[in-house]
Amino acid sequence: MSDDDQRFETRAIHAGQDPDAETGALMTPIYANSTYAQDAPGDHRGYEYSRTGNPTRTDLEANLASLEGGEYGRAFASGMGAINTVLNLLDAGDHVVAGNDVYGGTHRIFTQVYEDYDLEFDFVDTTDHDAVRAAMRESTELVWVETPTNPLMNVNDVDALADIAHEHGALCAVDNTFATPYLQRPLEYGADVVCHSLTKYLGGHSDLVAGALVTDDEALDERLAFYQNSVGATPSPFDCFLVLRGTKSLGVRMDRHCRNARELAEWLDGHDGVDEVYYPGLESHPDHDLAAEQMDDFGGMLSFELDATLEEASEFVTETEVFTLAESLGGVESLIEQPAAMTHAAIPREEREAAGLTDPLIRASVGIEHVDDLKADLRRAMAVVS
Ligand code: PLP
Repeated sequence: MSDDDQRFETRAIHAGQDPDAETGALMTPIYANSTYAQDAPGDHRGYEYSRTGNPTRTDLEANLASLEGGEYGRAFASGMGAINTVLNLLDAGDHVVAGNDVYGGTHRIFTQVYEDYDLEFDFVDTTDHDAVRAAMRESTELVWVETPTNPLMNVNDVDALADIAHEHGALCAVDNTFATPYLQRPLEYGADVVCHSLTKYLGGHSDLVAGALVTDDEALDERLAFYQNSVGATPSPFDCFLVLRGTKSLGVRMDRHCRNARELAEWLDGHDGVDEVYYPGLESHPDHDLAAEQMDDFGGMLSFELDATLEEASEFVTETEVFTLAESLGGVESLIEQPAAMTHAAIPREEREAAGLTDPLIRASVGIEHVDDLKADLRRAMAVVS
């Protein structure tokens, strides 16, 4: 049976990985090498230097490509390293259309690093396709999409956005960190390249930082490989090993993340102390139908707005015990944060409020603990605050 015929959960465990030919070792070893012996000058066995290629990374890249349903995977030292590599494809004077609620670090590298290199960026509501069309220019080379978005869980239509990008000769890149390939495979909807912070669900245990790009386009992959090697933001073999260990259990973890998040979202939705719940799995979510079509389930991230002040909401996130107060997401453990005071504090309050990022908005990365304990934790923290 070829890898292509196997289902996701089987490929997650086997794709890119064969037992070691000599020893039978089942798991890809951590090839802790910077360099490789050559049989004659230039006559090597596929590896010359580990920035260019490393066998542990090769297996990870093949595994990730298979999970995203693409041909080519490239791993990086962080999600930002992966995002940077997509921007390396562009030239001075090129224009990028991006979602107006992309990850803060993405907004930062766009505006505080690459605007200085004469790239131009427009941030628009990518759920409004007329606004996206209106933002496209002759010089637009890239449309950057996240879905679901952070922290308001808007769902973007990858099919429609990739079409708009292609009508204008631009690439469509999708950051699939929140959904993971278990729930959503943007290449199937026409995206040209998929980006990941492997730090999150794919690693899955909050014990590494890494990133990846996957594409089906050989010529594009060659250019990504060139920048991967030239810029050098490559992951260590140890981190590649950890991600490979993480992807093996991605399916079972995501099932539990989704189940817990849905149960908490429904419970919060009926709670007096909560004004609004943002979770695409709720039928009341404006993008619920699109999410149901584009995703296989609704994910482990949810946000909710407490009926509280900024200070009360800060007290709430400090009071939780099973939910750890921390940035990041996608690990087996539940994390909670207050965007207005943490991840999005740098955005001026007026701008924040206009984008729906109110003071009492809380974002949760729902882990795989027992859901009753998670509920009890939130209930107790709410009681303390009210
Ligand atoms: N993309 C998204 C959606 C993220 O949430 C993050 C980090 O939080 C990144 C990219 C950047 O990834 P990393 O922190 O691995 O550099």
